[in-house]
Amino acid sequence: MDLREIGLALAGTLSRDRFYSYYKELDRNQWLSGDALTRLQLAKLRRLITHAATNIPFYKKRFADFDINAVRSPDDIKLLPVLTKSELAEAGEDAVVRGGQRLVSRSTSGTSGAPFRFVVSRDFFSFGIARHLRIFDLPGLRIGDPWVFCTPLRYKTNPVYSFLTNRLVLDANQITRERTPPCCPASPGNRLEPDEVTIRRFCKQIKSHKPGAIFSYPSTLIALATFIRKWRVPDIKIRTIISSGEVLPHGTRKFCEETFEGEVYNLYGTTEFPSIAQECGEHKGLHIFSDSYLVECLDDGAIVITDLDNYTMPFIRFKIGDHGFLKGEQCRCGRALPLMEITQGRISDLLITRDGRFLRRSFFAAVLEKNREIRKFEITQDQRREITISILLAKPLSDARRQFLMKRFNEYAGGSIAIKLQPAAGKVTVSEATK
Ligand SMILES: [Zn+2]
Repeated sequence: MDLREIGLALAGTLSRDRFYSYYKELDRNQWLSGDALTRLQLAKLRRLITHAATNIPFYKKRFADFDINAVRSPDDIKLLPVLTKSELAEAGEDAVVRGGQRLVSRSTSGTSGAPFRFVVSRDFFSFGIARHLRIFDLPGLRIGDPWVFCTPLRYKTNPVYSFLTNRLVLDANQITRERTPPCCPASPGNRLEPDEVTIRRFCKQIKSHKPGAIFSYPSTLIALATFIRKWRVPDIKIRTIISSGEVLPHGTRKFCEETFEGEVYNLYGTTEFPSIAQECGEHKGLHIFSDSYLVECLDDGAIVITDLDNYTMPFIRFKIGDHGFLKGEQCRCGRALPLMEITQGRISDLLITRDGRFLRRSFFAAVLEKNREIRKFEITQDQRREITISILLAKPLSDARRQFLMKRFNEYAGGSIAIKLQPAAGKVTVSEATK
């Protein structure tokens, strides 16, 4: 154990926080055998269902006729109904058990729908920190290796504690608190020029920190990589690149690996469920952290998650809104944690034109959402050459309206990329108008 890890353990002891012991437990679990993982999942699942059905009004009603003895394997979770975000939001306080604990309020960002609010206990919040820390395990990083992260700081409740653990102990250098790439224009009103001063400052910070790892959204990584290449910024080499928060396209992975001369490790996690699955050095898929989550992929690919450790506001068979599939293969790394792939999930807000300028998907979405004629839409980009907006209509769209939309889009893009507005050929799945 090196000094920084001792510091981390000490920070846990001094703040009477159990995150470090939780982390050590999770760290060990990655090497459990398949049978041991199944036994652990089954025990946790039975305990969770019994707890929810006994103590939480929402689940008391929902599981009223359910016999816990029917759960003989983790697969038997399929006997329970799938839970949607709106059902849980409607249940409100009925889905929470307080039990005299201090609760911490959390919320999803709402960039891909209305913000979703939920609560966790103070102790489970510490467990969440442990889940965040386990992102070091699969890429083979050590606690204390210098790294930088370009995501918002999550632990806002205690800035001193955040500083101690993130900056001094973990040696993380947070270069931005922005959700979206710092080098992009801040708003549609701001024209398309990237913020060169900011991005050059970030490059300088990264260079001086000499990180062994970077943790970031794919869109931020590609923004950084684009400018490192464009301006030929020398010596920004990062061995381990942990990408999370958005679907990672193959092209982005390759572009980042070549630019930073490192290896990308994709991580699947959300605000509600930090660190659900992550790649190991074999890169044969994402290892599900099945010691703590039960992940299912339904016939249509919809991902359903049960958090086996959350007792305050349990998520039992929660439909998360992403799609993927289970691979059913063994990994050569020796971990029995099952493998999965994500086929559809939160996508980047960023569109990149051929001349390296940035546009925001959210600008197009905001314009489209104001039209009652448009029921659903999907915005895709083909190799930087063209943006295609596929629309599914609720009623006919007049020529004048179509022309107006194209005028707005072309004004925004400033001729940097071709834009095509077309009827949706098949199922529109990615974006949906809010009306
Ligand atoms: Zn593996």
